[in-house]
Parts: sequence; structure tokens; C-alpha cells
Amino acid sequence: MKKRVIILGSTGSIGQNTLDVLAALTKEWDVVGLAAGSRSVELAQQANAWRPEAIALTNTEAGRSLHDALDYAPNVHTGNHALYKLVNETDCDCVISAVVGTDGLPATLRAVELGRRLALANKEALVIAGSLMMPLAKETGATIIPVDSEHSAIFQALHTGKAEEVTRVVLTASGGPFRTWSIEDMAKASLKDALAHPTWDMGPKISIDSATMMNKALEIIEAHWLFDLDPNKIEVVIHPESIIHSMVEFCDGSVMAQLGAPDMRTPIQYALTYPARKKGPARRLDLTASITLRLEVPDETRFPALALGHEVAHRGGTAGAVLNAANEAAVQLFRDARIRFTDITTLTQQALQDHCFVADPTMQDILEADRWARTEVTRCTTC
Ligand code: NDP
Ligand code: MG
Repeated sequence: MKKRVIILGSTGSIGQNTLDVLAALTKEWDVVGLAAGSRSVELAQQANAWRPEAIALTNTEAGRSLHDALDYAPNVHTGNHALYKLVNETDCDCVISAVVGTDGLPATLRAVELGRRLALANKEALVIAGSLMMPLAKETGATIIPVDSEHSAIFQALHTGKAEEVTRVVLTASGGPFRTWSIEDMAKASLKDALAHPTWDMGPKISIDSATMMNKALEIIEAHWLFDLDPNKIEVVIHPESIIHSMVEFCDGSVMAQLGAPDMRTPIQYALTYPARKKGPARRLDLTASITLRLEVPDETRFPALALGHEVAHRGGTAGAVLNAANEAAVQLFRDARIRFTDITTLTQQALQDHCFVADPTMQDILEADRWARTEVTRCTTC
């Protein structure tokens, strides 16, 4: 019997790469649900090609034009709860969570509640609500498999030893487009500069997160929750070639690394086929060419966002929700040309410092902290 998969965020960078992977796995997988935010034309085109039984679009206005663009009659969900309804009402084996930002949280949590396999790209969901999501997965038996390339690498390397034998986990970071820039130059950086990632082709929000290195801070927190790791055991190194996707060091001194071309189709496919491996469309490393693999110590003075990852992983509670929401709001302000590039991290740091911390939060506390941080960041830029 074919397995059934829902893709949340199908029109985005991860979503499109997922469909590319699934095109080579049509004998094993049926796409039964596709979901996006507002790009109705792209969603309808994907639906017409893949024929899922249900689709979802959050933006109600854009949703009105969906029916006209469809050449068959799937169940259509629109509005704020559309993705949640799609996951709730469509039977499936696996949910690919690839929405960007906090908006992916309710549907992602519902997939965990229903005990589905969750292929998780939406790292923000774990950063915000890892304290609720991981125990819930244990309770329902949901398997969470990382799509993020670093976490996929760690997930694979961890299989070579026992949890108590791990001495440290080393997340690699490309360093982004500003790896060699001064703080003064970064303060003047344009949106185009920030979006010009040297090794990965990704959506705009994560590209800007990579430029500030906030992405690595989010990934420290993601690794902490996913693998139940003490934050002190998580380190970051700069690896400009993006070939070593991350490493795990064991107590005997062995370091297990996963290597590959910088192509998200590899970790996406592994999240779908695990524990099996299949031939797929991802680019290969040319191991006959001479390859240089550099490792550099990150510079926390030029990239202060990095330190926030450890701080928030240690604090737990509502700190993750505040970090994530403040960063999302600040990234949007930068995209709207209302703040400088370097203000993104400053505003996020300020929100973290000022917020009313809750150590053992409920979902209500988390959503409240998220709302507060967004308002606070916007208020700080207008006062
Ligand atoms: P994109 O911006 O390319 O795509 C985002 C997707 O989310 C789109 O399908 C978009 O729909 C959808 N979306 C946005 N807002 C909503 C909403 N309110 N309701 C429903 N759907 C919504 O992002 P990426 O694919 O780059 O990133 C997705 C996630 O994966 C992020 O969490 C990112 O951190 C993570 N990730 C991405 C990597 C990459 O290589 N791109 C690598 C590792 C992790 P629409 O098109 O209609 O706007
Ligand atoms: Mg990553």
C-alpha cells in the first residue's frame, strides 16, 4: 500500500524540493494534501499536477480564486485554521512541516498529537514550543525526523553510538553572505545583500536568518529539543563550503560527520524514507575533484545573534517564543526597509532582556509571549 503524505508550505523552497523528491517516489507515496499561505495560483498548479484529495490556503481573500484555477474538485480549506483542518481531517502517514515561522505551529502540533511521522523543516515550531512538542510526541508515538540539514546530519551520526557516549555535537554554519564583512558594512547592508546566500538557495526569511546567524541560534535550540542535548554540548563552527552538514563527537574521540552536496533534497528524502535509503534526485559530491573543507571559529562580536542560541536553550520557558517572534518581527521590518540589518539582532536581544519570563509555560503563555515580543519590537522602532 502506498504511504500518504501532506506537505505544509508546498509552494516554498522546501515544499518545492519535497515535490521534486516525491516525483521519484511515486510508486511508494501519494500526495494527499498540499498547503500554502497566499500564493493561490502556485498552489492550484501544484494541486492540478499532483491531485491531492485536500488543499489548504490561509489567506481567505486569495482562497476565493482557488476554485477557478483548479481543474478537479478537492476538499478546499481556507482561512486561519485551514492548515490545522487539513492535517486534522486528512488521513496520512507523514506530514512535512515546511511553513515558515510561527504560523506553522498549530498544524505541526496537531500532526504530533495524531501520532504522525513529522518531517520537520519548520524549526521555529520547536524553538517556540519544544517543551510541549517533545513530551507530546513521546505520549502519542509521533516520530519527529529533522529536515534541517544539520539536524539530519546529527540524527544520522547519532545512530553510530549511544546517547550517553556523546561528548559534543558540532553544528556547521556557512557563515552566510556577511562572513567576512565588518559590523560597519553590515549596518549598511541592503536586502539584496542579505538574500545573497553563498551556498544554499532558500526562502527569504531563513536567508536573512543565515546572514545574521540567528539561524544558527535557532538551530542550537532545535538540536537541544530534538536530541535532548545539554546546551553546553552543542557547538558551532563556520564551514564556508557547506559540505560537512554537522558532526557528533563520541567519548572515544571519534567524530562522525555527514557530508553531501548542499542540496536540501537529501535531508528531505531521508526524512521520508528513513530508515531506508533510496536513489534520489539530489546533487552528488564530486569526490574526484580536489575539495577544500575549511573550519573556522565563529565571531560572536560581529554575529551577536549566535550567543542567543545558548542563552535561550539554557533558559527554556518562554524565552524561545520571545526570541523567535522578536526575530520574525525584526526581519520583516528589515525587509520593509524600516530598520538597518544590524538592528535585527539588537531588537531581538532587547526583547529577550525585557520580557516577563515564564519558566514552565502553557500554550497560552507561549502565544502571549509571542504576541508581546512582536508588539514590543514594532513599538521600539516607532518610539
Ligand atoms: P519559503 O518562504 O520559501 O516558503 C514558505 C512556505 O510557507 C510557502 O509555501 C508559504 O506559502 C508558506 N506559508 C507562509 N506563511 C504561511 C501561513 N500563514 N499559512 C500557511 N502557509 C504559509 O520558506 P522555506 O521553504 O525556505 O522555509 C520553510 C521552513 O523550512 C522554515 O521554517 C525554514 O527555517 C526551514 N528550513 C528551510 C531550509 C531551506 O533550504 N529553504 C533549510 C532548513 C530549514 P506562500 O507561498 O503562499 O507564501
Ligand atoms: Mg540548517
